[in-house]
Amino acid sequence: MEDGGRPPHVAMLATPGMGHLIPLAELAKLLAARHGATVTLLTFASMASATQLCAFLTSLPPSVSHETLPPVDLSDLPHDAPIEALMSEECTRSLPALAGTLAELKRTTRLVAFVTDHFCVNAFDSARDAGVGRRCLFIPGSLHALTLMLHLPELVASVPGEFRDLPEPLRLPGCVPIPGLDAVFSALQDRSSPAYGMMVHLAERFRQADTFLVNSFDAIEPEVASVLRQPKPGRPLVYSIGPLILTAEDRSTGDSDAKPPPPRAACLEWLDRQPARSVIFVSFGSGGALPVEQMRELALGLELSGQRFLWVVRSPTDEGSAGFIERTKGVGLMVPSWVPQIEVLAHEATGGFLTHCGWNSTLESLVHGMPMVAWPLYAEQRLNAVMLSEGVGAAIRLPEMKEKETIAEAVREVMAGEGKGAAVRAKVAEVQKAAAESLREGGAAMAALDGVVENWAPGGNY
Ligand code: UDP
Repeated sequence: MEDGGRPPHVAMLATPGMGHLIPLAELAKLLAARHGATVTLLTFASMASATQLCAFLTSLPPSVSHETLPPVDLSDLPHDAPIEALMSEECTRSLPALAGTLAELKRTTRLVAFVTDHFCVNAFDSARDAGVGRRCLFIPGSLHALTLMLHLPELVASVPGEFRDLPEPLRLPGCVPIPGLDAVFSALQDRSSPAYGMMVHLAERFRQADTFLVNSFDAIEPEVASVLRQPKPGRPLVYSIGPLILTAEDRSTGDSDAKPPPPRAACLEWLDRQPARSVIFVSFGSGGALPVEQMRELALGLELSGQRFLWVVRSPTDEGSAGFIERTKGVGLMVPSWVPQIEVLAHEATGGFLTHCGWNSTLESLVHGMPMVAWPLYAEQRLNAVMLSEGVGAAIRLPEMKEKETIAEAVREVMAGEGKGAAVRAKVAEVQKAAAESLREGGAAMAALDGVVENWAPGGNY
């Protein structure tokens, strides 16, 4: 490990978005704690104003430092450019600055590896130019999503029209059969969209990594895990190192005893007053907002279900469901924009999660043993929803037509139903144990991470 007393150093580049930054930072903390590494976490300027970012970065241990790349001009991009295109373009335009930063890190530290996530694969060029030994692609998603990206170039060539028009589900090695409409990232559902070509380009470059680090674990996708674990010429090694999530302990105490814990959110105080496992938590992630008519069906559906609920609303509105807030005052709480999700999921009053199936929310739900109602919106959330409902059996998925009766029924079933709901709750309890098992000392995630580091430098002498 030692090289003139200098610890090994890892540079990590996170795509804008807390959902990418948080698991990468958890990986950084593990590399520091288990392998004595120091880490520089690089982020983009577009993220610098995110309110959650600052608090999050100050909670990192001293061995994980942070640097923001200089801003780049994106004003020429169409104002309605898809988020995937924005993220990838910001990365591409930041490459010269990144090359300089990596060269400087190479000069001043013992830089052994560069890790980035899938929207920044172009950054591998800068890492190669800077002479960084190992290039790892972090997948903040499932092995199903990775499989899809690995097969995308051949799928694009073999599927003549749009994926959503496929008459039969896609059958990829080890994956659950995936209907065309759910099969791909939303950006890939329209061949005329600029994001389409960009995603295909990213997929073509995936194999420039020498290692894939996937934030998943075997219990939720065992068949695809065993397929990808078989070494295959031309395919980077695949390691499942999950589920990496921010833990409630990290959030409440920070990593330093010197810092006072942040004030407790009002919604947690509200949860304190509710019976055990009685509340369904409703949230659509950091970016998900529903059209007004779906907001109305959801409001009426929650009311009809008779279940207590905690609903994070990105644009609070009482439109179309007049009197809803007043009528549900005793049983429901609506919170604008943001709640400390991990603490909500860890709270004993929470008993289920109606979720957009973002990957971090999915992992957080499983780690906390929460059965899910799946309401995917965009990105790869539909794929996650298929996997969770058809593959794992940890969620009940809502039908395409979301009406108050079906919403109410799914919510009741997941919370207290004796049929499918009971099976989902039992499965989630089983998966929760497997998640804890993966993360314990000697568990699969820790063994995989040790394998990654060993691969960086055989004999541990990296
Ligand atoms: N999150 C949170 N409070 C909120 C909404 C989201 O703490 O009110 C966190 C959530 O715990 C998760 C991340 O933000 O870690 C969202 O990531 P995910 O992949 O689920 O969805 P995305 O926001 O990327 O669609």
